[in-house]
Amino acid sequence: MAVKEQTWLRHYPEEIPANLDYPETPLTVFLEKAAADFPDREAIYFMGKRISYSQLLQDVYRMARALEDLGVQKGDRISIMLPNCPQSVITYYAVLLLGGIVVQTNPMYKERELEHQLTDSGAETIICLDLVYTQVAKVKDRTPLKRIIVTSIKDYLPFPKNWLYPLKLKKDGIDPFIPESEDIHSFSGLLKKALPDPVISRVDSLDEIALLQYTGGTTGLAKGAMLTHRNIVVNVVQSGAWLHKGKRGKEKLLGIVPFFHVYGMTVVMNYAVYMAATMVLLPRFNVEDALKVIEREKPNFFPGAPTMYVALINHPDIRKYDLSSIQACLSGSAPLPLVVQEQFEKLTGGRLVEGYGLTESSPVTHANPVWGKRKHGSIGLPWPDTDCRIVDPGDGRELPAGEVGLLQVRGPQVMKGYWNRKEETDQVLKDGWLNTGDIGTMDEEGFFYIMDREKDMIIAGGFNIYPREVEEVLYDHSAIQEAAVVGVPDPYRGETVKAFLVVKPGYQLTEEEMNRYCREKLASYKVPRIYEFRDELPKTTVGKVLRRVLAEEEGKKANSK
Ligand code: AMP
Repeated sequence: MAVKEQTWLRHYPEEIPANLDYPETPLTVFLEKAAADFPDREAIYFMGKRISYSQLLQDVYRMARALEDLGVQKGDRISIMLPNCPQSVITYYAVLLLGGIVVQTNPMYKERELEHQLTDSGAETIICLDLVYTQVAKVKDRTPLKRIIVTSIKDYLPFPKNWLYPLKLKKDGIDPFIPESEDIHSFSGLLKKALPDPVISRVDSLDEIALLQYTGGTTGLAKGAMLTHRNIVVNVVQSGAWLHKGKRGKEKLLGIVPFFHVYGMTVVMNYAVYMAATMVLLPRFNVEDALKVIEREKPNFFPGAPTMYVALINHPDIRKYDLSSIQACLSGSAPLPLVVQEQFEKLTGGRLVEGYGLTESSPVTHANPVWGKRKHGSIGLPWPDTDCRIVDPGDGRELPAGEVGLLQVRGPQVMKGYWNRKEETDQVLKDGWLNTGDIGTMDEEGFFYIMDREKDMIIAGGFNIYPREVEEVLYDHSAIQEAAVVGVPDPYRGETVKAFLVVKPGYQLTEEEMNRYCREKLASYKVPRIYEFRDELPKTTVGKVLRRVLAEEEGKKANSK
């Protein structure tokens, strides 16, 4: 696969080839290989329970058989509405073995979001947690859903003593409040009944869709990005090349980023299986649980989002924990503030580098070299076999290094398109180039920088302001834990800058103080005119601060005036 000669290739770390060979196999082959080469190696650690690769593969075979017996066929869409737990891994690979299409469903979805996703994808089967069963049951008759498979976190014992489980549970099955019937099944019951005989992969072509990864929900109706087996295989192999020091059968990954998000799915779950690594799973992000599990299980690779690293370094007892096992961290999904990078590296002794990607590209397209030269504030170099260019948003002209424009990417990890949405697909994909919707630039050495989402740019009195730049200045302030900047309607300037701030515990800040501080560091048109102090900021499941939610709140306030 040839990438044309590009500036950045001259700056690639020596150990990383610009072009790679990708196995011509479905994704499930990674799991079969891991179980064949390292049968006793721990695949999953989950709240005290340890599962080896051979056990995991057997459970995947069982679940594939069980799903087939229930009528699931090749090409069917199956929703997985689970947090990180063994069941989410088992079901994912079982569906893929059958040639099914995984529809990743966020367990926090409310009725409206769930109904849209199930209807849009046409999923007839869902595997969900007992805690969200009521939600699923409510929308069932309004969607194509035929079967619900229910599981409980408790299906995987031993259970921590101090866990306060909200529902009473039947011993070997689903919750007693959930009626087992022809349409409703217990995950553990199905597993028990089915035989673990090998299931031959039903995938005939690597261009078959492996997943529908829904994206763009906060701006309108979420669309399902069609990611193929090949897309994910490629991004996993690219991850391996980028982290080139990893050895199969030796790594331990911290699995906090949710697997229903494309980042956790590729860079944690599939990458771990590819490397026959142990996944240390946490069903949700909680600072203390994360610190304890790092100290005890000693993961060496921790893919995360900036807010996770921020929360960890600000924990009052952080220095009491031994985090020295961590060698590498890839931070994605939002900009990584320099202070966070520095403090986290000091605490762990490992390397924390920033990467970049999006759902539509499976997701990673750029990262700073983990072991080689990196640049602060940059998303790094394009990954092997990935073409990138900056174009003029108006006429699509390719711009030279140093100029600011829209980032477009092309490579084997880029999606097939959006499920059943030709028009939206044609808007973002042209001649293989994916329009990322992000404004950025490339320097002379081929390192890329993201200023912001095209949509988030603030135009105040004719000046373009990138919220990210202002946020970085705010993050540099020693009393600020989190910051988000949005444009709010202004009668004179069109828009003006508003900053939402979360102050670190034990600190106090005033608007005047912030104003003084910002005036010293920013051109006056970029200085926030309004500050609002909050206890927390709205975030996505991977911990990305949802600027859009804040902007919408402001928009509503302005309209009601
Ligand atoms: P999603 O499809 O939900 O994963 O979101 C993808 C978007 O997250 C990108 O288009 C960017 O706007 C943003 N993003 C991801 N990584 C970074 C990063 N390192 N810096 C800035 N924005 C990022």
